[in-house]
Amino acid sequence: MKPDEKELIAIVEEVVKKHGTVKSQHDLAELVVKEVRKKYPGFLLSSKRARAIALKAPGVGVKVHTKKSGVDRPETCPACGSGLSGLYARNLLNERVLIGLSCENCGYSGVFKKFAPFRYEFYPRKNIKRENR
Ligand SMILES: [Zn+2]
Repeated sequence: MKPDEKELIAIVEEVVKKHGTVKSQHDLAELVVKEVRKKYPGFLLSSKRARAIALKAPGVGVKVHTKKSGVDRPETCPACGSGLSGLYARNLLNERVLIGLSCENCGYSGVFKKFAPFRYEFYPRKNIKRENR
């Protein structure tokens, strides 16, 4: 026996409501697994799946933190000294996130390790309007 997605969404909402802000998808998965196992022993949930469910839960807000640090960000190209332009990627929430820099002059590009991985935070949302009502 396994919980269906509707049930999981409800449990994710419950867990986030009970704990307030959950600081990472790993913590979220742990809390949800603990709760689900009361009913379905042996239940497993990856942090990635926990996050995917949280994104579908109307009562849960998701914030994305990128681990930004100015330390590794060069002002000019380390190879030729020209100005650098940003390299962007889209995260799960479809937000543009700076992941590195590239040089149009010589083709140098560098991706910041410190910009990844993203950290996700989950918090309870109040006064939500449910679409199916
Ligand atoms: Zn360059």
